[in-house]
Amino acid sequence: MTESAISRTDAQQLDQADTLRAFRNQFHIPHVGGTPDLYLVGNSLGLVPRRTASYVQEELDRWAELGVRGHFSGERAWMAYHECLAQPMAAIVGGQANEVVTMNTLTVNLHLMMATFYRPTDQRNRILIEEHAFPSDKIAVESQIRLHGYSPQESLVEIVPNSDGLLSTESICQAIRENRDTLALILLPGVQYYTGQVFDVAEITRCAHEHEIFIGFDLAHAAGNVELKLHQWDIDFACWCTYKYLNSGPGSLAGCFIHERHATNRNLDRLAGWWGHDKQTRFEMSGDFSAIATAEGWQLSNPPILSLAAIRASLEVFGEAGSMAVLNQKSRRQGSFFRECLKQSLGDRVRVIAPPEVSGCQLSLEVNLEGVDGKTVHEALEAKGVRTDWREPNVIRAAPTPLYNTFEEIWEFVELLADELGDA
Ligand SMILES: *Cc1c(COP(=O)(O)O)cnc(C)c1O
Repeated sequence: MTESAISRTDAQQLDQADTLRAFRNQFHIPHVGGTPDLYLVGNSLGLVPRRTASYVQEELDRWAELGVRGHFSGERAWMAYHECLAQPMAAIVGGQANEVVTMNTLTVNLHLMMATFYRPTDQRNRILIEEHAFPSDKIAVESQIRLHGYSPQESLVEIVPNSDGLLSTESICQAIRENRDTLALILLPGVQYYTGQVFDVAEITRCAHEHEIFIGFDLAHAAGNVELKLHQWDIDFACWCTYKYLNSGPGSLAGCFIHERHATNRNLDRLAGWWGHDKQTRFEMSGDFSAIATAEGWQLSNPPILSLAAIRASLEVFGEAGSMAVLNQKSRRQGSFFRECLKQSLGDRVRVIAPPEVSGCQLSLEVNLEGVDGKTVHEALEAKGVRTDWREPNVIRAAPTPLYNTFEEIWEFVELLADELGDA
């Protein structure tokens, strides 16, 4: 170690100076026998805010007390409960309240969006995705292609990343240009789940629209992680889950964004249900569908209130933190601190896949050592209370989140990783 080595005290000083440090107390930190986990998997399952239990309990109590009357009585009657989430959820993704709805789960929403935005013709029936798309996304896309009578062999176009694992904006735009006459839809991530790379959503959308191709984004790893401006960037649609960075509980409901220019178009074809029907006449039960002229017009069913209550609790914490811009500022600081610690303790024994310019909270660490099995390293860390995740073939994903992770935890993680890698 050199004199300029980063010490635990340095990390503690950064925590002292962090204006968001008190937010950690808003969460339950998982522990083993009272020792808190070093929890760096908010990108997989975010932690539960302390207030969530009381928000869920409140609805259980209302149910116990009111029964069916709970739908209509009180300040947050269940009938309209989802409406109180539109604004705070829109703030997370930079949308307008009329463009955002919380409903279903992520893969379901992808299908609903493709039902509207994937309208293949014999000339244009292809969908562009990335080669390492999340399995569920690829499966959903292929099934849509088949459902319309086309074959994935012909109609699925996959962009291959560069040798460093990254996809440049230029190579994506080039793939769009090369296939512009046959593409019906483009579906890409906002942040790639494996590499942690943040995509230039605005620029990619410009390329797509230049050729009049619909474009949607899967924001599972972007929502609550990086700052987004979906309305301004003019994307057609987006879907994201709320159990990762948005801390709303396992399997919780998902978000969906439909740009105003589409959301207000009540004639746009869709897979519809009664909860998307005009609220004034919904209970006339006529069976003639008349869509709500907002993203709510894509709702199918009345939503599970207990899950919405957990989302409400979580979004409130985000609101109190200020904005995604504020959270982002801290994650950039944590990211560069993380990189400095890695560089100091591990040099080139570990490679961070995505460079700082295109990283959010998550750093994907490739272990580059002859004779070292990354998976064994990951398991050894796990036994020491470090929660990161392992992705085949050779990546440890670690995602310090600005709401509840400290600089000291980052420092400690790197020390433990260095111990495992020893002098190998
Ligand atoms: C987490 C994740 C999913 C999970 O989909 P569910 O429908 O919520 O089970 C899908 N796609 C991506 C890119 C993800 O990161």
